[in-house]
Amino acid sequence: QRTDGNGKRRFRLGVMGGTFDPIHHGHLVAASEVASTFDLDEVVFVPTGDPWHKPAAQQVSPAEHRYLMTVIATASNPRFTVSRVDIDRPGPTYTIDTLRDLKAARPDAELFFITGADAMAQILSWKDIQELWSLAHFVGVTRPGHVLENVGRDDVSLMEVPAMAISSTDCRRRVAGGKPVWYLVPDGVVQYIAKHRLYAAGQQARSSTE
Ligand code: ATP
Ligand code: MG
Repeated sequence: QRTDGNGKRRFRLGVMGGTFDPIHHGHLVAASEVASTFDLDEVVFVPTGDPWHKPAAQQVSPAEHRYLMTVIATASNPRFTVSRVDIDRPGPTYTIDTLRDLKAARPDAELFFITGADAMAQILSWKDIQELWSLAHFVGVTRPGHVLENVGRDDVSLMEVPAMAISSTDCRRRVAGGKPVWYLVPDGVVQYIAKHRLYAAGQQARSSTE
């Protein structure tokens, strides 16, 4: 429903969840395209909390680094914001908690959860899926190398976005291998990665932002 009880247009809030380790232009283009197509007033990027259950080898960078890179990448867009709800909540991140917290903070907003084709393929296995459908409209976007599957629900939209063959995994590998990530991630993120020596070969990211 596009209007509230008084006929007033409801605020349309996009939600872009991710590890953002680091955030790259694939994330930003997806958010921008969905915002344009669905006439969103704002897209909030929500970096996930630190997973405490993963082995060191697949450890993600500390949440504070991922949060700050997300802030840097989105700062120039007046409709993009960043939320700390997932990084401030202890334990692993489940989308159901993200949406519950955002809904509580913005009770009047209509939520649009944005997910790439790879995440969309797993969505039916997500925690509390029935409640998820009731909290947000889901928008699945195309991603090179993945098939965007139709989950067979009216409240799930699928849309094509400009193909960006970029992943955070590839960006981390490139940095570790001494290859550039210019133009794959925003300029400020390139500089943030260098400044804090993130993803350098044989080196764990520091646990503080120094
Ligand atoms: P990693 O390689 O570490 O998994 P990633 O590039 O997949 O990183 P995530 O933070 O895992 O990035 O993704 C967050 C969300 O953005 C997911 O819904 C994912 O499908 C979507 N996404 C990531 N990259 C792209 C892209 N290039 N095009 C479209 N959607 C993307
Ligand atoms: Mg991913």
